[in-house]
Amino acid sequence: MTVLTDLTLVEARDGLAKGDFTAVELTEAHIRAMEASRALGAYITETPEQALEQARQSDARRATGTVGLMEGLPVALKDLFCTKGVRTTAASRMLENFVPPYDSTVGRNLARAGAVTLGKTNLDEFAMGSSNRTSFFGPAVNPWKRTGDDAALAPGGSSGGSAAAVAGRIALAATGTDTGGSIRQPAAFCGIVGLKPTYGRCSRRGIIAFASSLDQAGPMTRSVKDAALMLSAMAGHDPLDSTSAPVEVPNFENALTGDIRGLRVGVPREYRADGLDPEVSALWDRGVEMLRDAGAEVVEVSLPHTDHALATYYILSSAEASSNLARYDGVRYGLRVEGKTLDEMYSRTRGAGFGPEVQRRILIGTYALSAGFYDAYYLKAQRVRRLITRDFLEAFGSVDVLLTPTTPTPAFALDEEPTDPLTLYLNDVFTVPTSLAGLPALSMPAGLSGQGLPLGLQLVGRHFQEETLLNAALVLERACAFSGAPMFAGKEV
Ligand code: GLN
Repeated sequence: MTVLTDLTLVEARDGLAKGDFTAVELTEAHIRAMEASRALGAYITETPEQALEQARQSDARRATGTVGLMEGLPVALKDLFCTKGVRTTAASRMLENFVPPYDSTVGRNLARAGAVTLGKTNLDEFAMGSSNRTSFFGPAVNPWKRTGDDAALAPGGSSGGSAAAVAGRIALAATGTDTGGSIRQPAAFCGIVGLKPTYGRCSRRGIIAFASSLDQAGPMTRSVKDAALMLSAMAGHDPLDSTSAPVEVPNFENALTGDIRGLRVGVPREYRADGLDPEVSALWDRGVEMLRDAGAEVVEVSLPHTDHALATYYILSSAEASSNLARYDGVRYGLRVEGKTLDEMYSRTRGAGFGPEVQRRILIGTYALSAGFYDAYYLKAQRVRRLITRDFLEAFGSVDVLLTPTTPTPAFALDEEPTDPLTLYLNDVFTVPTSLAGLPALSMPAGLSGQGLPLGLQLVGRHFQEETLLNAALVLERACAFSGAPMFAGKEV
């Protein structure tokens, strides 16, 4: 018997088309799974009634022959995507009761493609973090466990709830956002596929801003084909986002040929960093061999400014965050804590509304932007960002894609999370450089660690060449034959 929640998006789409089951049945199965898996903390807000209504409408549309790309497929939205009439919190006390008056463009695109929305997934507060522990609503939990060890593991962050929901079979797929790795790192920790598209590929309209020059929405799925399908539905130019790119959206699924003969794959020398887990390093070597066996040509490349990427990222992203988050002032929307004066109201509101990590970023960012330090930090970081981008463009003069690990280690336990914020920031060492350069990058599960945890490999492509990226990922997916199913933390299986 088919377990509906185990299907990939593509399998579910084909099953719906054949009439094997209805969108209502598929949605009901996911609602039951959602109720049984609450221990994962994957969702902040569940919207089962709305999902069932959407599923009924989808079945009715199908009966008239109207079928969108994602027709009847139940997915989840990271709780950073505004949803009309459904509260959108950014996992912050500041927005605990915020109900947006409009939908994000990406959410609207998915709905137009026929998708059903199950609810809003957990994340690090305002998408700042790598563990999902900074959420005001408590952490999401990774559905995976180490062999013979019951410790609850971090799903990664910031899109940790989305990753846990997809890996835990409580959504067929989910949206994530990635500013410095927040789609790819949780995808790697939870053994799923996560794609950060080229900056500008998906509209940022209606996505609560963290760092506007870096934020990008993308799909989190259980297969490469699913990522291709969902990206086709999410992407597209949006006149309401001035940084959204006026480029055609190909049908990414149709571009998957599975043939990469002659593809030139770059392996960046600088990514053999100290502290790289030997298992991760060995997996990377295996990935290189698999691509070579499939007919790719492997070339070593150099990205000389890699060492400066993390510092650059944390200056720029914090600077942008300090300015973006200035809007939470107790006046326009969100929390308000009264004070005797206007200034006191501001500081009480922001002191109570933002958690410690968000406050830390605002302080770093305000400092970097303040008179006297602007040139030394913000402007300097902008220049280094340019050099990092140039490294990639030069490398892409001789290769078509890059292959690297996604994270330096597999998932850590929730109570082993490094207490020093700098150590945690090192989780992003392989993902941040591509964010600074605005390049598309995908993480896919490629194997298991000795302790039975998923490990991810990252593919990076040229601007707007997601097709090449997805095609290489498909080949690697077939060669890796990753078949791990998580040991559920939240329910019996
Ligand atoms: N972990 C990184 C940070 O904390 C990335 C976050 C993200 O991509 N949203 O900033």
